[in-house]
Amino acid sequence: MEKLQILEFPDKRLRRVSEAITVFDQKLKRLSTNMLLTMYEERGVGLAAPQVNQPIRLIVMDISEERDQPMVFVNPVVSSYAGRVESNEGCLSVPDIKTDIKRHETIKLDAQDIEGNAISLEADGLFSICIQHEIDHLDGKLFIDYISDIKLQRLRKKIAKQNKAERIEKQKSTRLI
Ligand code: ZN
Repeated sequence: MEKLQILEFPDKRLRRVSEAITVFDQKLKRLSTNMLLTMYEERGVGLAAPQVNQPIRLIVMDISEERDQPMVFVNPVVSSYAGRVESNEGCLSVPDIKTDIKRHETIKLDAQDIEGNAISLEADGLFSICIQHEIDHLDGKLFIDYISDIKLQRLRKKIAKQNKAERIEKQKSTRLI
């Protein structure tokens, strides 16, 4: 297993639209395993393949408190949704920034597993939010795109003022997705 390097904003490679996956082979399995390892080591809740410079439609996540329920979704699509919910988000590719945005409250997810079998499920809460955040990565979209440039600038200034120790402490307690 190998820990992968995570691309960080404003890296343009995070803005690519990822390709659908058609081949379910050992290489894909290896990538998903390495992405899970990377996600756990970085204390993230989810990770999308383009974040590790692989522009393909693959996401991994683990929303359990015990960090023992890894999930892998290939070619994930939100096929229906309902409700709106406020979500406080951070991202492994956008260090230090955390902000409230709006997401769909409940969603229906259609995807494939790592073998290519069809999966269909309903999600709410953090599970729903995490899926939406990761699918955005596949479309070259980041959670900070939902806030205004002025608000983003304000957040970045605030962060610049904080000392490094505070930042590290804060990051430890934040769920990064
Ligand atoms: Zn993210």
